[in-house]
Amino acid sequence: MTNLTDELFRNRREIMIKHQICARDVSSDIVLDAMNKIERHLFVLPKDKGSAYDDRPLGIGDGQTISQPYIVALMTELLELTGSEKILEIGTGSGYQTAILAELGSEVWTIERYESLSIVAEECLDRLGYNNIHFKVGDGTVGWTHKSPFDRIIVTAAAPKIPEILFQQLVTGGKMVVPVGERHLQDLKVISKTKAGQMESVDNCRCIFVPLIGEDGW
Ligand code: SAM
Repeated sequence: MTNLTDELFRNRREIMIKHQICARDVSSDIVLDAMNKIERHLFVLPKDKGSAYDDRPLGIGDGQTISQPYIVALMTELLELTGSEKILEIGTGSGYQTAILAELGSEVWTIERYESLSIVAEECLDRLGYNNIHFKVGDGTVGWTHKSPFDRIIVTAAAPKIPEILFQQLVTGGKMVVPVGERHLQDLKVISKTKAGQMESVDNCRCIFVPLIGEDGW
């Protein structure tokens, strides 16, 4: 019975990757492999397991969501990870994106403002055997100062403006992927810190995220 369910979820993952992710031009092999490996159904509420591989975000409690699989894949690809990076994630949520980052980077520091979500995510990621993830409950808009600088920063909630404090916590040559804009529609931005310490920003696509609430957010 378990094997049959595993097989069913594996098939759904393969279909998700082909039709939702590759079809929209995410092509990084390491990202696709990680999306294939991580069992998304382990990160959703029990009642939503049957929808875990659908092309949409799902509620995870506290009014928050696990992001659409395509957006997780796209944001990860935009980070251009090589395996050696120290990554800061703002918005742990279910921990699904965190798992993908932990597969592809060296160490992940992740901050969530809801303790209830952070606890569930940490339990799930511990069960899966990750030992390169550090969890914190609090306001991620102020970053994680004493662990900075970071090679990469990913913000999985919508900021009203480019988060300046987080930019300061990037290494020279580092990158941050962050949705920025209005409350209900944002641009997914890739921010780079140049050798001269300047900010360069490129818009990738339109997106819709839950708000980034905090000192340097909404
Ligand atoms: N990446 C997550 C996943 O895979 O499940 C989805 C994250 S969800 C779209 C955004 C998360 O950001 C929510 O869990 C929300 O509580 C969190 N959040 C919003 N503002 C925050 C802040 N200032 N600091 C930390 N987390 C924040």
